Amino acid sequence: MQLRDYQLDLVSRVHDAWRQGYKRPCIVLPCGGGKSIITADMAKRTTDNGKRVLFLVHRRELCEQIENTFRAYGVDMSLCHVGMVQTITRRLKKTEKPALIITDENHHCLAASYKRIYEYFDSHCVGVTATPVRLNGGGLGEINDCLLVGISAKELIARKCLSPYEYYAPPVADLSGIKSRNGDYAPEDIEVALAKPHIYGDVIGYYKMLSEGKKAICYCATIKHSKEMAEAFRDVGINAAHIDGTTPKGERAEMISAFRSGAIQILCNVDLISEGFDVPDCNTSILLRPTKSLTLYIQQSMRCMRYQEGKMAIIIDHVGNVHRHGLPDQNREWTLEPKPQRAKKNEVSIRQCPDCFYTHEPAPVCPNCGHIYEVEKKEIKEMQEIGLTLLNGKDMIFEKVKKYVSPDQCGTIQELYAFAKAKHYKPGWAYYQARKRGYLH
Ligand SMILES: [Zn+2]
Repeated sequence: MQLRDYQLDLVSRVHDAWRQGYKRPCIVLPCGGGKSIITADMAKRTTDNGKRVLFLVHRRELCEQIENTFRAYGVDMSLCHVGMVQTITRRLKKTEKPALIITDENHHCLAASYKRIYEYFDSHCVGVTATPVRLNGGGLGEINDCLLVGISAKELIARKCLSPYEYYAPPVADLSGIKSRNGDYAPEDIEVALAKPHIYGDVIGYYKMLSEGKKAICYCATIKHSKEMAEAFRDVGINAAHIDGTTPKGERAEMISAFRSGAIQILCNVDLISEGFDVPDCNTSILLRPTKSLTLYIQQSMRCMRYQEGKMAIIIDHVGNVHRHGLPDQNREWTLEPKPQRAKKNEVSIRQCPDCFYTHEPAPVCPNCGHIYEVEKKEIKEMQEIGLTLLNGKDMIFEKVKKYVSPDQCGTIQELYAFAKAKHYKPGWAYYQARKRGYLH
């Protein structure tokens, strides 16, 4: 295994930061950017020099997974300790001083523990996360002293490290009355609103419409909610299963391997399936848990985007998370300091199609179904006229374009209109494509 260019660049930026006197830089890298490979590489360089590494995690399930990755990468595990931050902070004296401390996903509720560990050892530290924010939207300034922002999710899609996706956000219930507890929506309230037979029916209907037959992970609010959702899928003949943190380890492994093989098509869970869940042909995330946490939103929505040749990931958001946080691969500006609330709201600039619920970056036309947004109708009409007139005069184009298998083969606006006509797309589609390619200004 070799680091990709942008991964190597991040490693060298960490070393630069240390040289410049920063103590605790934090790498910002989207899911799919290779967090574990970068940290494994840094750990290997350290243990290759005979020095110790301490790797801090906040959940026990992550320890084994990281140890396996590191071992496979050639890290000397006799010099590398992977431990829970909650445990290490109580056993500082019994822990041998590491030359390097790596932190996976700083969790703010544990800030005091991280700080105690960093200050006790005074070693080189580095953190790594996809979303350097706290639940309340604040920054990580209390824990880290510099952010090293790596490649963006958009760029990872362009480089085929993540799959492209389609985002649909059809609401299935009124969630406006849900109260908050501990900074996020109260799971019991969500359960009351969403754990209902007719809502399960709607969720299944949308799944069948948007992603029938594909593997999906379904994120629910509570165990009861998740179990009932799985049952509702089974009732209509779709093989679904529920897993949660109390599912015995062996059983959990069996279910995940059944999901991998295709025997189970839909896995319902609360928040069990996150980092490191590796099923490349799982192409759908179903979101049934509204959350204020950008971290949770990104983890859950992007779980279906692991790269596979030709895959189009489908995100079905029934709880409006996209209106709270924006699209998962939207470019975000990260800072160590809390952001003013107003600036935060401006970040979310998306459009949702009233016809097909496709949710996308602002455009005059729904790129999915061709729905034309009100303000742009006049402009579109003009374009249609031009496009159609040109097309009528040149049937040669139509004959040629009919043979195209991909819209990428279209080289002009006329060809795009012809392609749309041949494929029975709505006319808005050609307009949108033409605009995206810069044929129109
Ligand atoms: Zn649409």
